[in-house]
Amino acid sequence: MINKKLIIILIILTLAVAWICWQMRAEPEQSRACTEEARLCPDGSAVGRVAPSCEFAACPVETSEDDKSNDQASHDLEVKLAWPLADAQARVTKKPFGIRVSPSDSPVQPERFVGYHSGVDFEIKAGEEDQSLPVTAICAGEVKLVKWVSGYGGLLITSCEINKEAVTVLYGHLSLASITKKLGESVQVGEQVATLGQGFSRETDGERKHLHLGIHRGTATVLAGYVATEQQLAQWLDPVKLIDKD
Ligand SMILES: [Zn+2]
Repeated sequence: MINKKLIIILIILTLAVAWICWQMRAEPEQSRACTEEARLCPDGSAVGRVAPSCEFAACPVETSEDDKSNDQASHDLEVKLAWPLADAQARVTKKPFGIRVSPSDSPVQPERFVGYHSGVDFEIKAGEEDQSLPVTAICAGEVKLVKWVSGYGGLLITSCEINKEAVTVLYGHLSLASITKKLGESVQVGEQVATLGQGFSRETDGERKHLHLGIHRGTATVLAGYVATEQQLAQWLDPVKLIDKD
């Protein structure tokens, strides 16, 4: 009697083990039989479900989209621009980019220039007349010109690349003595390149103490602070718009 019970228990156990083994072997078979749906990828290709979980396979474009955003991020990093002075935006109070001035209607009096302003002027604040005001590079590049130029006084021009476009950047009304960079030397974005020239001196060519910042398209060193026509203005970029966007 006891032996009979034992045999029955052994048979049940054997059946149980056999069933478990069959289940374990059958599992991948069930997973392999994914439904035959396809998912359309953005690039027009299609992907099916794949074992073992029957999730859709990754679209090839999903990966390259990631790459694209990575590229975008590194590109943004590469062209990152910086303001040339502390609290720069608050200093644009007289001559923004593109304003047309003449001696009779200029916001700066007396005025000796006529034309469309090809750059932007950053003013000093009350009490900064005799302070040393550092000017920092708005973008990385190479020194193209360090010179006293009529209308500017001390002028520094660097090359630069903005949104993959070659440009030159003009920093006008600087103390030439404060510029330690030589022609061909590189500047980093945010690096101090000069201090503002003393107002109403040779350093500013007789102008008030302020920074004129111009961005000219292309690689040629063009000195104009004003241009005669709006068409010519198209050769210049608005620094505030560009830096603000960054
Ligand atoms: Zn100016």
